[in-house]
Amino acid sequence: MALFQKLPENFNPQDYDMLVVGAGYAGSVVARRMAEEAGWRVAIFESRPHIAGNAYDEKDEAGILVHVYGPHIYHTTKANVNDFLSRFTEWTDYQHRVLGEVHGTLMPVPFNHASMKLAFGDERGEALYQKLIERFGENVKVPLMDLCATDDADFEEIADYVYENIFLYYTQKQWGKTPDEIDPSITARVPVFIGDDDRYFPGATFQGMPAQGYTKLFEKLLDYELIDVFLNTDARKILRVEGDQVIADGKPYEGTVIYTGPLDELFGCDLGELPYRSLDMQFETLPMERFQPVGTVNYPTSEDFTRITEFKNMTGQVKEGVTTIMREYPMPYVRGEGMTPYYAILEPENQALYQKYAERVGQVANFYPCGRLAEYRYYDMDAVVDSALQLAEELLEKTSAK
Ligand code: FAD
Ligand code: UDP
Repeated sequence: MALFQKLPENFNPQDYDMLVVGAGYAGSVVARRMAEEAGWRVAIFESRPHIAGNAYDEKDEAGILVHVYGPHIYHTTKANVNDFLSRFTEWTDYQHRVLGEVHGTLMPVPFNHASMKLAFGDERGEALYQKLIERFGENVKVPLMDLCATDDADFEEIADYVYENIFLYYTQKQWGKTPDEIDPSITARVPVFIGDDDRYFPGATFQGMPAQGYTKLFEKLLDYELIDVFLNTDARKILRVEGDQVIADGKPYEGTVIYTGPLDELFGCDLGELPYRSLDMQFETLPMERFQPVGTVNYPTSEDFTRITEFKNMTGQVKEGVTTIMREYPMPYVRGEGMTPYYAILEPENQALYQKYAERVGQVANFYPCGRLAEYRYYDMDAVVDSALQLAEELLEKTSAK
């Protein structure tokens, strides 16, 4: 890989078989696959001063490896994704655990057997738990909304507790809405778990942290001679879509274009802005060995922030007498204010607006939106890698059919 800090004066898009917008998972995975499988020359434009998208990590002033855009824990059930990423990193055996600080008591989230006893007392908690097993089985996940939908007084009691104490205020902070006002797939990410497993991702077959961090993983992923990465380069200065054509540097571009940014921005938001939620991440370095017992503590009943992450607890980094934590303060995303669009807001009118932009680019045969922003989806890392691998397969099939 050649890494450029800016776009050279003599840059010519026609020298490349593929132009990629964004050096996060979506763009980097497609770039690597097409470079190594099809021998394509690839240029990646990245507006930030670094690769790795929102998974970017770096050492802070205290020498602690931090996740600059929020805590990232790798977890998946997809063997193809795990096989692919494992070419570029080794993994630690970190298993993510989260505690919720509920009116002063720390209890496992997702709400599980232990949480039940902490919430309702040993005896009543156990009785309710056994009843849950009878109804739903053991070691199963039950989405909050399914629990709310039963017409049994005991289950209603559990549902009310979990709704009120785990989901209501956290969700109001995160989304500015109550849990029943947002898409049920969002709260279903953190179901009630009927079992003793206290991991945040109990079903994940592969879980861990990249042993040297995410940025190092990306350095290896992009380390291929046919790939050039141009940092500090907003692709919109070079690329635009006009009718059914991509125009690059003023001329029609016939190669392939992978776009991983927000789709509305490509068109100056002329049909309207796609709404997102953003976060203000407040980092703090403290002169102590350890701040909290687990990687992340959620605050579902108090505080203005949603959660505190302590990075050493996740990365396993050993550094004596100092630790860095980070608090996440959610907020609406406002364009042009230097904020990051972290979460698509999955509401029908927003999806409908997204579809209008998607239809536009659907007319452009060589243009492919891919990733969390460009597909306006709530994708975890593994889902983005999977989507990018599938897109690369599609492109390879088209190439071999020519
Ligand atoms: P991104 O990583 O956003 O990359 C897109 C890139 O495109 C960015 O670098 C952007 O600067 C660049 N770009 C955009 N527009 C332009 C332009 N016009 N020109 C040039 N460049 C441009 N997933 C997990 O699996 N586990 C987790 O624990 C986890 N935690 C998360 C925590 C938070 C707070 C957030 C927000 C997300 C988390 N995720 C997690 C999700 C994960 O971040 C995403 O799935 C993944 O990073 C998406 O990759 P991407 O390539 O689609 O997008
Ligand atoms: N959630 C909650 N309380 C919690 C954890 C999660 O209300 O203690 C809800 C909240 O609406 C959140 C969603 O579940 O946005 C998904 O949580 P997850 O931890 O998956 O969010 P992410 O890590 O993607 O921000």
